[in-house]
Amino acid sequence: MEMKQFQAESKRLLDLMINSIYTHREIFLRELISNASDAIDKLYYKTLSDGDTGLSREDFSISIQPNKEARTLTITDNGCGMTKDELENNLGTIAKSGSLNFKKDNEPKEDIEIIGQFGVGFYSAFMVSDCVTVVSRAYGSDEAWKWTSRGAEGYTMEPCEKEGHGTEIVLNIKPNTEENNYDEFLDTYTIKNLVKKYSDYIRYPIRMDVEKSRMKEGCDEKNPEFETYTENETLNSMVPLWRKNKNEITEDEYNRFYQEKFNDYEKPLKVIHSSTEGVATYNALLFIPARAPFDFYTRDYEKGLQLYSNGVLIMEKCPDLLPDYFSFVKGLVDSQDLSLNISREMLQHDRQLKVIASRLEKKIKSELESMLLNDRDKYESFYKNFGLQLKYGVYEDYGMHKDVLQDLLLFYSSSEKKLVTLKEYVGRMKEGQKYIYYACGETTDKIDMLPQTEALKDKGYEILYLTDNVDEFALRMMMKYDDKEFRSISADDLDLETEEEKQAAAKKVEENKDMLAFMKESLDGKVKEVILSQKLKTHPVCLSSEGAISIEMEKVLNSMPN
Ligand code: ADP
Ligand code: MG
Repeated sequence: MEMKQFQAESKRLLDLMINSIYTHREIFLRELISNASDAIDKLYYKTLSDGDTGLSREDFSISIQPNKEARTLTITDNGCGMTKDELENNLGTIAKSGSLNFKKDNEPKEDIEIIGQFGVGFYSAFMVSDCVTVVSRAYGSDEAWKWTSRGAEGYTMEPCEKEGHGTEIVLNIKPNTEENNYDEFLDTYTIKNLVKKYSDYIRYPIRMDVEKSRMKEGCDEKNPEFETYTENETLNSMVPLWRKNKNEITEDEYNRFYQEKFNDYEKPLKVIHSSTEGVATYNALLFIPARAPFDFYTRDYEKGLQLYSNGVLIMEKCPDLLPDYFSFVKGLVDSQDLSLNISREMLQHDRQLKVIASRLEKKIKSELESMLLNDRDKYESFYKNFGLQLKYGVYEDYGMHKDVLQDLLLFYSSSEKKLVTLKEYVGRMKEGQKYIYYACGETTDKIDMLPQTEALKDKGYEILYLTDNVDEFALRMMMKYDDKEFRSISADDLDLETEEEKQAAAKKVEENKDMLAFMKESLDGKVKEVILSQKLKTHPVCLSSEGAISIEMEKVLNSMPN
């Protein structure tokens, strides 16, 4: 039989697949199932538009059959099938596969990235098999053809017999090696899980014969006898939860879905389910975890949402869908507007994806705002876990995101003795009060005992107590809220005295000049200046820093590595 050559580009991709060190080989099954589903779609569409195929939706299915003895895995569909020419053209040319644009000098590393993120269609079969056979019969044709390939050296074609239209793909699963276990792809349990994981939402049933065991009928229950039998099981649920109507889904279903999919032992704090049509058509199912993941505030944490294109998972964690300050959100987006084989690079510039991302950001923000308004306890619990991330968000990118975030912030209030929003603070400001006062320290108790807070509190001013390192940086980045400047209680000018009081103070300084100079000298370089303060009440003395930066902020800055 004549060995035919692959196109140069296909050969490259095949080489890559065969020698791939990529560890998520399991995605081959997703790729083959998605092709089978596409092929059925094509024929189903014909059924709908021509109306003369005599087929109906229930007639379509995909089957998976492992055979441990023969080491084969067979994936069959009764879709449109392929003619001889189509077999050659579609499986011999990578250009068919659409969007994979190989640059001439691609680094091998980048190639692996490509596989990891998107899979590359039919050729991914070669990651797990050393020989692939495709038997296909096009709908409406009475001849079938067999395409066989052992990899990059080429493929053969021969006529063969096949009952009915559709395609059967037989994978000869590779033998196990020391590093890699291929046996698992012949195991019904693994296959079931892979279908659940990647292809649960394929709209046609994916079936497999599964061996089960049951108690023999009529046997003695105390001395049970078992028998095995085979059941043709449908592995996928076919309807994704996120496409169901909101009022048809119970809270329990949402919770179970979240816990299984995102491996959390706790229920989510908040579920956000939204469907949109128009500029961007998508379904999104988002969750706010009840607790920050253990690695959340480390470099290891990866933000992102699962991305589906019309029910098929194309990316496990798409970072471009979430801004950093909402990186705690888990969930998924399913859109018909994205191509299945879109590459990571292309995604970053995809207009549709940008529209979706900005919609999601608004949605998350408004959900948080309404939680703050309507369920304060829940919001505080959220804030305890993720408030720090919001504050980093205010600080990052030169305060660019402050408008999004400022009303989601909470700080401890000296007068309310609990967390308050900036809006609430401003609403309580005294007449003529110019500044939003804040004080920094390790704990609210310690701040409460600072000499500087005493006079302010005594005069009836509310002070925000900042206990996280990032707090003061965030406020200073914001500069103002509702046109009111933030002011540290250790700043020189707190705008507390009248003009006369200020003059009286200046006079006192002048009178005590010599004593102050003597004190400074005695402290022997430990302080820069000794001054008379108007800020103290019962405390005789306090330490303060010059300029607007508080001592606390200085401490943080000094402790940072250069
Ligand atoms: P893509 O699915 O992105 O087009 P693939 O590499 O997965 O790329 O498949 C290449 C082509 O092979 C498909 O476009 C389709 O024309 C054809 N093909 C693959 N599998 C099947 C199948 N089971 N039935 C019919 N055609 C198929
Ligand atoms: Mg495909």
